[in-house]
Amino acid sequence: ATMPPLLSAIANAGRHGVLVKSAVVMERLGRTDAVALDKTGTLTEGTPRVTDLRPLAGSGFSEDDLLALAAAAEHPSEHPLARAVVDAARTRGLALAAAEDFASTPGVGVTAAVDGRIVAVGTPARLINGRTDSAAARAAVIAAELEEAGRTAVLVEADGVPVGVLGIADRLRPDAAATVAALARLTGRTPALLTGDNPRAAAHLAAEVGITDVRAGLLPKDKVDAVREQEAAGRRVLVVGDGVNDAPALAAAHTGIAMGRAGSDLALETADAVIVRDELATVPAVVALSRRARSFVV
Ligand code: ADP
Ligand code: MG
Repeated sequence: ATMPPLLSAIANAGRHGVLVKSAVVMERLGRTDAVALDKTGTLTEGTPRVTDLRPLAGSGFSEDDLLALAAAAEHPSEHPLARAVVDAARTRGLALAAAEDFASTPGVGVTAAVDGRIVAVGTPARLINGRTDSAAARAAVIAAELEEAGRTAVLVEADGVPVGVLGIADRLRPDAAATVAALARLTGRTPALLTGDNPRAAAHLAAEVGITDVRAGLLPKDKVDAVREQEAAGRRVLVVGDGVNDAPALAAAHTGIAMGRAGSDLALETADAVIVRDELATVPAVVALSRRARSFVV
């Protein structure tokens, strides 16, 4: 028996390593006329490494103290940056204290009680947020320096006082630039970059992959607004992301695809399709598959 074109396309997408959740989704993917890509874990491999340990002078913290405290607080988190911090601590053979009252704010960072101290680890811009005390000012200078070098800077605070900054770097996926170019050809519009990371690191990476429309420092709801803005202009937006912070945008978009290997459970559940083989280049491939299947469906 011959399979209906959309079902063959789903089977074909599966062979390419993309799990498309329904025939309706398979059909919608071909109507994509704008794409928004997340940065960390989507355009990048999502296995970032800690490259810099910068305890603040006068904090009394050594490099190891700083890393051990940050790793203890990050231990319960599934964020790729959290995994980088925990791995770095393990590599140095540091013992991690238990974290209590763990909480995470997507796009911002985490807080936890560690050894009787309230520890916060996350975006310098949001944690410092207008404070002018000397520790905050010195931390901001170090963060800017790291970001200028293309790193993601992560601030560590103990009881509300900055104690140091970590520099974290991630590698671009080998197929990122080719995927951006293929999606631009398919849709007639260069994809946009939506990221919670800092504008400097975002611009650095965007230039490498040929993206000019860069939105940085976004919270999950800002990613939704960026999608709605495009859809209000009459575009059907395909969002590709991996994080908890991408879930609302994945849900709001015309279609959403999640990175499966390192993607958060929430992103995988919310998305209309999941990339199982961990190749970004499968995104333009499934859009093309949908277009071909739709040409058989009237
Ligand atoms: P992206 O949108 O590029 O995937 P996220 O929104 O997940 O990035 O993260 C945005 C920023 O929020 C990060 O660059 C980091 O500064 C901060 N952040 C989020 N979660 C964490 C965490 N668990 N530990 C440290 N920093 C975090
Ligand atoms: Mg991400």
